[in-house]
Amino acid sequence: MPMILDGAAIAATIKQEVAEEVRALAANGIKPGLAAVLVGHVPASEIYVRSKVQACAELGLYSDLITPPDTVTTEEMHGLVAQLNARDDIDGILIQLPLPAQIDSKGLLDAIHPAKDVDGFHPVNAGRLLAGRPTLAPCTPAGVIEILKRSNIPIAGQHAVVVGRSDIVGKPVAILLLHQNATVTICHSKTRDLPAITKQADILVAAIGRPGFITSEMITPGATLIDVGMNRLSTREEFDRFFKGNAKREAAFAKRGSVIVGDIDPRAFEFAGAYTPVPGGVGLLTIAMLMSNTVRAAKMRRGL
Ligand code: NDP
Repeated sequence: MPMILDGAAIAATIKQEVAEEVRALAANGIKPGLAAVLVGHVPASEIYVRSKVQACAELGLYSDLITPPDTVTTEEMHGLVAQLNARDDIDGILIQLPLPAQIDSKGLLDAIHPAKDVDGFHPVNAGRLLAGRPTLAPCTPAGVIEILKRSNIPIAGQHAVVVGRSDIVGKPVAILLLHQNATVTICHSKTRDLPAITKQADILVAAIGRPGFITSEMITPGATLIDVGMNRLSTREEFDRFFKGNAKREAAFAKRGSVIVGDIDPRAFEFAGAYTPVPGGVGLLTIAMLMSNTVRAAKMRRGL
């Protein structure tokens, strides 16, 4: 039987550890603070930001939710970021993506002070990550490493194959795995004979954004499968492709009108040595790591 890598349990442990650190900082009069900027009314973004603000409250962090209208200009957003960079009660700045089309998102993210860049997207932090210096690492990739380490999955000397090379997930997760002494191969849409490479993986990380793309024929039995993908299936046809006859998923589909599937075909999981389920795997670590990064930013900014 494959081992299920339980994202909920690992995220809960990390949150407990963060709450303890927050209590220790409080004893020294320090309360880490997160500014969450939510522009306009994108329903998925509203849900994500609400969960982040709620996590701050649970763990004892200060949070400030700022909600500019979707007509906001790039200049106004730069003004806001400059204010947040200067505020002493704010240790982390999170700008929820996507932003409206009129805003230059990259330029805006680059304007966040690297010391407050708790998403770890700033080129300075990306460079520090590459160079193996202390930094704020992107939350989802950092969560992947936490899952592997805390589940005692060996990384050093293992062949880790990462499918996907985005700046947010694929590249940073590959670098983090390299720092853990894995032998890393990065694959992408131009990779020739992808299955020949994914079959070599001891650890396979899928960050592609295509439902169930990695099938059981593409893995070697016993591999550790880390599924970063989150794809919503909302038609009966899409649902049946992966979950026909699955009573639990059928009930979820009937209730919500959609279900989430990762980038790995769930039927491949039975051949794995260990795997992260979707939902219930990597996704749950992202907020826990954001909280952890905010506390880390608070400490680093004060030289602690
Ligand atoms: P991007 O779209 O930015 O990147 C996707 C990557 O997959 C690209 O590098 C692309 O290659 C590669 N790719 C696409 N098609 C193929 C193919 N046929 N064969 C091989 N590689 C391919 O996505 P993200 O990295 O932002 O996200 C990836 C997934 O992770 C998504 O499902 C997203 O929803 C999920 N996600 C989950 C998070 C969480 O908290 N759990 C957080 C962030 C993302 P190329 O570069 O050549 O185009």
